[in-house]
Amino acid sequence: MPVINLLPKSVSELIAAGEVVERPASVVKETVENSIDAGSHRITVEIKNGGVGYIRIADDGCGIENDQVPLAFLRHATSKISSADDLDGIETLGFRGEALAAISGVAKIEMFTKPHDKETGTHYIIEGGKEVLFEETGCPDGTTIIIRDIFYNTPARMKFLKKDSTEGTAIQSVVERIALSHPEISFKFIREGKLVFSTTGDGKLSNTIYSVLGREIHSTLIPVSGSSDYVSVSGFACKPVYCRASRAFQFVFLNGRLVLSKTVTAAAEQAYKDSNMVGKFPVFVLFVTVPPKTVDINVHPAKTEVRFVDERKIFTAVYYAIKNAVSTLDTRPEITIKPKTDNFFKMTAEKYRQTGLNINEEPKPEQREIKRETSVLKEDNIPFFLRKDVLDYKEKKENENSDLKTEDEVSSKPPVVEAAESRETDKRNEQEENISAEYNPEKEVRLIGEAFSVYIIVEQGNQIYLIDKHAAHERILYNDFKKNNKIETQPLLVPFSVTLTEAEHTAATNNTDILAHAGFEIEDFGGTNIIVRSIPACLDKLDVGEAVVSAISTLTFGGDVSTKEIDDIYHTVACKAAIKAGFITERAEMLSLAEKVLSDPDVMYCPHGRPVAYAISKSQLDKYFGRIQ
Ligand code: ADP
Ligand code: MG
Repeated sequence: MPVINLLPKSVSELIAAGEVVERPASVVKETVENSIDAGSHRITVEIKNGGVGYIRIADDGCGIENDQVPLAFLRHATSKISSADDLDGIETLGFRGEALAAISGVAKIEMFTKPHDKETGTHYIIEGGKEVLFEETGCPDGTTIIIRDIFYNTPARMKFLKKDSTEGTAIQSVVERIALSHPEISFKFIREGKLVFSTTGDGKLSNTIYSVLGREIHSTLIPVSGSSDYVSVSGFACKPVYCRASRAFQFVFLNGRLVLSKTVTAAAEQAYKDSNMVGKFPVFVLFVTVPPKTVDINVHPAKTEVRFVDERKIFTAVYYAIKNAVSTLDTRPEITIKPKTDNFFKMTAEKYRQTGLNINEEPKPEQREIKRETSVLKEDNIPFFLRKDVLDYKEKKENENSDLKTEDEVSSKPPVVEAAESRETDKRNEQEENISAEYNPEKEVRLIGEAFSVYIIVEQGNQIYLIDKHAAHERILYNDFKKNNKIETQPLLVPFSVTLTEAEHTAATNNTDILAHAGFEIEDFGGTNIIVRSIPACLDKLDVGEAVVSAISTLTFGGDVSTKEIDDIYHTVACKAAIKAGFITERAEMLSLAEKVLSDPDVMYCPHGRPVAYAISKSQLDKYFGRIQ
């Protein structure tokens, strides 16, 4: 029969330490939060050996009174609450009074601390939970805490630490997040002797983002703000084209505290749904404020996932705040034309004439020739209702309509007996509406040409569009694959073999059904070889070896096969099958591509998230050329 023992204090403290002190990054988080709670304006974080060897946090906060210092290292010693009532509506970061006790149990701590109104401060050393030194000393206002040799007395835990560089990166991400959540505090982060970033502490989130995340990310952000009921949301989010391949740049602060919330993330990502790409994630720094009572904050200190009393309200507030910011941009990006030189605009008509170019001069005979030729080629001189394609369309519609009496039509209309003639007229009107909807001259796309074998140039309504032909085609193919949820296949007359790596071979032979779904029929061919029997119908046979390997390597890196991996394969095939920049494309093909791009709002961005088309408006050009002011 096992005997139940009450654990000695030293053991129970080590267990508790395990909960608070998971790794150096959690030590940094706890101690920096203490500095914030102490009302600091400047906080410096310095680490060496990934924080495992050395962490120094220096602040200019309130400091600790001499006689209170040893108390700070006792369990459940805290200056932040004194009764159970205080637990409601708590606003400081730490309140459990566990962190310093826990850290001092598994590391060597040295502290210098001095309240502003005192002449002298305290120098205190505690190692493995045992006080080593406690003396008065001269030191600056505030607190400096140095933590050395984390887990030096618990070798088993030490083994779980990752490489110094990994631990250092985890710390950096903690300090970044804390700095972002406190634009009013100036943070300095020094890693292995190098200053990584320092923030001004001027209270402006935009400046903090610039210092912490860098100029590049900063330049992609737009402000977000909104509120509904008791939820208010503010911060910054990226323009859709700048969504990234990972969620590394998503920050959610709830009542000033860094949290993870599936609800907030989902709401933010949903707001980008139609304007970014699968596998791409928005960048955002969001501050969500709610009354403290509507959130479950009293969770484990090392866990940051929060729960809200009403998740729906939070979702709605975040979704609309971002959607409103993003949707104002949700059009094709416009190119702004800047005059090359100011002279161009400043030139007077008189001066212009003096330059020797004379616009009144009659065109030279050969110029006139060319002009006439182009105007003959132009189709827009023919009234659209006489154009062959319109007539064909009308005819087709008429044929369709003559045997049109689907069940739907019969059942969905109220059973009113109508004169045959009036029904006929109705039908005709409907038909004409359809035609004019389809042939709205404003919507008509006219091919101007192609530049650099990369960009298709078309005109529609009052806009000229520059379309990246590869990106556009890739997106269209990808959308098709997604819609059909498979890729049509074509058998090869002569199957071929491919040699793979061990990992690729395992992934391929374990997932033949998924590959078949994506149009690749393969068989194990012994060793690390496979035989490819059929390939996606849209692929050019020349590219196919490479395409097979790319598709398979998606599976290798993906681990478990999920929709994401299948999407990745669709993407790979779309990329390989799409017309390539730099190759010649038929005019008809260009036109049809452009029509697709401009009529389908789903073709805004290529699967890599790059824009597919840019617009230049006629009014911009008119302004540029001084036709309008
Ligand atoms: P908690 O933060 O949950 O109160 P800690 O163990 O982290 O518990 O800290 C214990 C106490 O030590 C705090 O309540 C605070 O009074 C004091 N303290 C810790 N760090 C600082 C600091 N940097 N400046 C001033 N006081 C501090
Ligand atoms: Mg604390």
